[in-house]
Formats: sequence, structure tokens, C-alpha cells
Amino acid sequence: MTCDRLVCANCAAPVSEGRCPVCRASRERLQQQEGIFAGLTPAALLALLVALVAVAVLARNLAG
Ligand SMILES: [Zn+2]
Repeated sequence: MTCDRLVCANCAAPVSEGRCPVCRASRERLQQQEGIFAGLTPAALLALLVALVAVAVLARNLAG
């Protein structure tokens, strides 16, 4: 999701221009959300799952 088409409720300008503090706050929040979603690629999720399974197996082996 991009913020190109969002219009600020405070200054009625495009949020992407960042004309007022409300615009800048909204833009930063959107960019952070994009960063989170960009990090959660299917490959990353799969790697995380494999790591969790590996830890679980190791823990079971160590517990004996
Ligand atoms: Zn604004």
C-alpha cells in the first residue's frame, strides 16, 4: 500500500507531500507498515518455521 493517493484530513494535501505534522506522522506509519510486510516474505516465513522446528527438535533431544 502506498500513500500517494491519501489526502490528509488536516491540511487536505496529499499525505505523500508531508506538508503538516499529521501528514508526516501518517507517512512514517505507512512506511513502517510497508517495511514490516516487506520483511515477511514467504521465504522468510518458511525459514522461521524451519528454525522453530529445529529448535523444538534440539530441545527434545537435550531433554533426553
Ligand atoms: Zn496534512
